[in-house]
Amino acid sequence: MRQSGAIELMGFKRYNLSSKNEQKNLRNMNNDSVENTKVAARGSRNQDAIGELLQVFWGRYGYRKQRLAAVLTRFAKRHSIYRSIAPPAHCYIELNTYCNLKCPLCPSGSGNIDRIPKAMEWDIFRLIVDDLAKFRVNSTLNMWGEPLLNPEFIPMTRYAHEKGLRSLSCNTNGNIDKDEAWFRELVQSGLSSILIDIDGADAETYGKYRKRGRFELVLDFFRKLGEAKKSLHSDLPHVIALTVVNRYNQDQLDDIRSLIESFGVTELRTRNIGHIGMIPIKAGMFAEFMQTKYPEQNPQAIDKEGMVCFYPSVSPPQQLICEYLWDGLAIDECGNYVPCCKEYSTTSVLGNVREISPTEFWFSRTMAEFRKRNLLDPLSIPLCAKCYFVCHIRGFVSEPVRRFGPASGPETDRRTENPSC
Ligand code: SF4
Ligand code: SF4
Repeated sequence: MRQSGAIELMGFKRYNLSSKNEQKNLRNMNNDSVENTKVAARGSRNQDAIGELLQVFWGRYGYRKQRLAAVLTRFAKRHSIYRSIAPPAHCYIELNTYCNLKCPLCPSGSGNIDRIPKAMEWDIFRLIVDDLAKFRVNSTLNMWGEPLLNPEFIPMTRYAHEKGLRSLSCNTNGNIDKDEAWFRELVQSGLSSILIDIDGADAETYGKYRKRGRFELVLDFFRKLGEAKKSLHSDLPHVIALTVVNRYNQDQLDDIRSLIESFGVTELRTRNIGHIGMIPIKAGMFAEFMQTKYPEQNPQAIDKEGMVCFYPSVSPPQQLICEYLWDGLAIDECGNYVPCCKEYSTTSVLGNVREISPTEFWFSRTMAEFRKRNLLDPLSIPLCAKCYFVCHIRGFVSEPVRRFGPASGPETDRRTENPSC
């Protein structure tokens, strides 16, 4: 079927991955260079008339047309339209990349995060929040690292809340030793929900995965937060306990539930260790922690030669595209736009907030091109090639290992200066 050049130019093209056209496109794409993934977005050069029109429209109507935005986003996903036609619904903002714990399967804890750990600075944070406030996007204040170790966490959260960002949430390890006054400030900051990791019902089990973690500090965190909420008569932040189910704590889920109930917490979520995946680890490490009690959740993960690549969920994704790219933005601690919250290095940096605002970036050609590339040739993007979405959708179970080969173990210091910082 012949595609109209104008339609394609505007980015309103529906991709049918099985068509001959697309197979030809796929063959023609240059897919062998990591550098090619670094598509530098530079201001207006990445804008075009359609992008600018959409920006003006959404800048004017912003959050008042949220239902329309949701419908358009669904439409774009369903029809694989790679152009952004509605504002982002969500944004990950990485407030910090260092951590006080050493969880073995986490890039931050295992020293595999490919950047110098640091906290986001105010000027970057303001650039993001001031711009995205007009859309009232839902925001998560962490990606990798412990967000509460950013000394400005509370003032930043308050600022984002006052500017109008919604559903502010974060995930903490709860190993933060603070006094009651600090917890009261946290409650009053405007944070909507907080996920607190608790990976065991006793100190020994907890410490198996949460290396360097102090169980009593986590319990203290639950208690002090509960007391602060009570004394301020506040329902927020909504507290959620989060257990990464592993071989050691798989028999303790009921005990963990009773424990958190004693602090008034009513929601316990669980995750498989493999959600962390995609990072180079020592061979056998994944097997050491993989839970065995719930066989239906056992992954078909690759645990050879030191790289765990993916971990399909119990219900495989139904969609044929990576929805992250249509739903929102992910911005690292240096203000880099990255494809999603899974990025722990700088191999897929798409631009920086100092060069192009989040709105401009969202409606830019760079974003559209990246979606197109993710659809047509995800294996050419180092990050996506390791992703369970891609593996699952395309059936490339062993491809990431073939392409990237054995990875270095956690002892290797892979940190490099983030060029944008
Ligand atoms: S507490 Fe979270 S960020 Fe820190 S090492 Fe563990 S998983 Fe990573
Ligand atoms: S395919 Fe995976 S790694 Fe790539 S953008 Fe989507 S979720 Fe992120």
